[in-house]
Amino acid sequence: MSLDKRLGQRFLPYGANYLDYSDMTELAEAIGHGVLFRYQTEHESIASRLERRVAERLGAAHVLAVHNCTEALRLALVSTRPRTGDLVHIPAATFVAVAGAVLSSGLIPVLVDVDASLSLDTTLLPPDAQRVIVAHMEGTVATLPEGVPYVIEDSAQALGARFPDGRHTGTRGYAGTFSFHHNKVLTSGEGGLVTTNDPDAWQTMRCYHDHGSARVPGRYPTWTADAYYGENFVTSEGVAAIQYQQFRHLDELLAGLERQHAMAMAELPARRDLQVLPRAAGDAKISLRFRWESRELRDAAVAALTAKGIANWTLGKYLLPEHPVLTGRRSLYADGFPWHLAPQGQPLALSRDGFARTRDLLGRTLCVPLSPELPAAEQLLAVRAVRDVLEAV
Ligand SMILES: *Cc1c(COP(=O)(O)O)cnc(C)c1O
Repeated sequence: MSLDKRLGQRFLPYGANYLDYSDMTELAEAIGHGVLFRYQTEHESIASRLERRVAERLGAAHVLAVHNCTEALRLALVSTRPRTGDLVHIPAATFVAVAGAVLSSGLIPVLVDVDASLSLDTTLLPPDAQRVIVAHMEGTVATLPEGVPYVIEDSAQALGARFPDGRHTGTRGYAGTFSFHHNKVLTSGEGGLVTTNDPDAWQTMRCYHDHGSARVPGRYPTWTADAYYGENFVTSEGVAAIQYQQFRHLDELLAGLERQHAMAMAELPARRDLQVLPRAAGDAKISLRFRWESRELRDAAVAALTAKGIANWTLGKYLLPEHPVLTGRRSLYADGFPWHLAPQGQPLALSRDGFARTRDLLGRTLCVPLSPELPAAEQLLAVRAVRDVLEAV
């Protein structure tokens, strides 16, 4: 396959490149057994094996597989036993799923402005904040707030990233959430995981995700006299099997990202009007992030890369203060649930400047994905192709 063709195919990113039928041992096993329901049998399911593997790999005490990261966020939130209408502080620049998870849990999102690294600015949080979702966007390790009872680390975009102390993102807060959507580090099309170090929280989440039941694998679920209602977020053996295959490639994938990121740092043009945003040692280097001097230059770079078939994206889509889901405050419920519970006369946003700086930063930022699966020589050619385009803007 020609290099141009591969560059153009970057909408098949990261883990998707490692999908390999000949490596799907667990999937073959599940199909061989004729069982795709994880609680069908008494013996350890592939989903349980996956959870054990992830717990070991990430250093999390407990892991629960669900259908997607949005469900994982909901589970983490409801397991804190909130009151409906309680506030949850979330980053002002993140994927709208974070707000959706908060609202669908009957809670009210408060948009907290981000710092220069585009992560939630913990200095803006009020001292009595109870629940905060921090998102490690594009593999960038965010700072966690101190003294908040429930910090949920949304690691949907940061599987494999590490804090300076070596611990993985998603393992330091009350709970961590991960996505296996097509665009994430590893993929099963859709898929999610929630991690926690708190055994009671894990028990609550496990119960809620399976109709509120006390489940013994291999048996019909049972409900204790004090059962509460739940939903069904139970993963499938087929999906877990693909995730297991994907996990086999995590280290190789992260190393491929590191290698190409280092090449890019050495090769990219030094222009006074262009800054290559630095990345910390522990970040998962899933993209190159550029900050242009003006929005016009950024837009010109987007057009130039796109014309060459080089995948790229911008981050304006993440600006939640301008997202219709937040500005419209609409709900499918006739009484407007949960928006009708929002505190009156209190802005649901924390920013020093009405998000002006964040709007400006996002408007000048450009991201180019890396290609961990390419051999080093092709990675270098890909970096040079990006460099040539950026030099000519
Ligand atoms: C993708 C993403 C989600 C949602 O993940 P799904 O698995 O698609 O539900 C949540 N948060 C962030 C930051 C994401 O990028």
